[in-house]
Amino acid sequence: MTELQESIFDQDTSQFTHITDCPDEKETAEAWVAEATAHGLELTALCGYVWVPKSDPVRHPVCQPCLDIAQIRLA
Ligand SMILES: [Zn+2]
Repeated sequence: MTELQESIFDQDTSQFTHITDCPDEKETAEAWVAEATAHGLELTALCGYVWVPKSDPVRHPVCQPCLDIAQIRLA
């Protein structure tokens, strides 16, 4: 059973919450997001959207292209 490591989180530069997955060199997606947030690093969403996460996120609807890609990967 394949487990997709991903993290859903938020940013304020678009109206959607994007999903990112775990880079090969990182322990977990959550750790990667925390690191990116702490250091102001760019993240790339499954849909290709690139942004810098904020430490105080706001909930938005989940990005549909990200959801579609995540579901394909899990299938
Ligand atoms: Zn997206």
